[in-house]
Amino acid sequence: MATVNASQTWAAEVRRLADERGAVILAHNYQRPEIQDVADHTGDSLALSRLAARVEADTIVFCGVHFMAETAKILAPDKTVLLPEPKAGCSLADTISAEDVRAWKAEHPGAVVVAYVNTTAAVKAETDICCTSSNAADVIRSVPEDTEILFLPDQFLGAHVKRVTGRENIHVWMGECHVHAGIDGAALRERAAAEPDAELYVHPECGCATSALYLVGEGTVPQERVKVLSTGGMLAAAESTTADKVLIATETGMLHQLRAANPTTSFEPVNPRAECHYMKMITGEKLLESLRTGSGEITVDERTAERARRSVERMIAIGTPSRGGE
Ligand code: SF4
Repeated sequence: MATVNASQTWAAEVRRLADERGAVILAHNYQRPEIQDVADHTGDSLALSRLAARVEADTIVFCGVHFMAETAKILAPDKTVLLPEPKAGCSLADTISAEDVRAWKAEHPGAVVVAYVNTTAAVKAETDICCTSSNAADVIRSVPEDTEILFLPDQFLGAHVKRVTGRENIHVWMGECHVHAGIDGAALRERAAAEPDAELYVHPECGCATSALYLVGEGTVPQERVKVLSTGGMLAAAESTTADKVLIATETGMLHQLRAANPTTSFEPVNPRAECHYMKMITGEKLLESLRTGSGEITVDERTAERARRSVERMIAIGTPSRGGE
């Protein structure tokens, strides 16, 4: 958006087309700032999926990545779900296929499969229970002690829940999100040491900060300076903090809302390069095109959706998954 006027004209056109189509626009926290600002609701993947199931609009334009739009479709099968750029994937979700899960299950008969929400619908259909980073430990504890668990696809979240639950019979898939590489132990330690008075917020959703979650649990940075927070918790903490500076360990898109919530505190990324290029594939032009033409419709076949829904609904029934999002 080159000028204020151009961006206002664009936003007005988006809103006009959304009204015309009877569509609600949902935007993930890691979307471009202008997309977050024009959306009806902004949040993390789980919060948005749950919202998708509740909204009255017949069409949902999901500004996020593919697995999130699929999850929305699984939970709201009667609605039309549009993803403005269908190529917006996820490197973490891509680390495991449904075929991989079937082969892994065959090696561990009787094991319960627990999957982080960053998975495709086809993978969810092969799993027993989904989890978010905030209820992963509760989900693990819901499985009888002597039953083996296959945890996928995030190795950092897997290692974290293994440590938190003290459970040994968990096999962890070695997937990871490429964005986390920018928020590694060295970066965390360095930034925390260079800014001894700054607070450190970690938002664990979406895979990009699960390594930070793991490192904080390991004691890489002093625990008393660190807050592991959901989106809602992070915004509330941002509004009320009196710290001069807060370091943020998550994808950089989250900074937009935090800075708007409290202009007197400086919110800085642990690593400014921790950016998800898939999330940024949703541009203003793509959003307009999708609203105009209905392009990017997401479909999930009925059988897959039904099996995946069971796994997602079990997740919602265990613990308080909304802690991770709302
Ligand atoms: S930040 Fe990582 S986990 Fe989240 S969508 Fe991007 S690649 Fe996937």
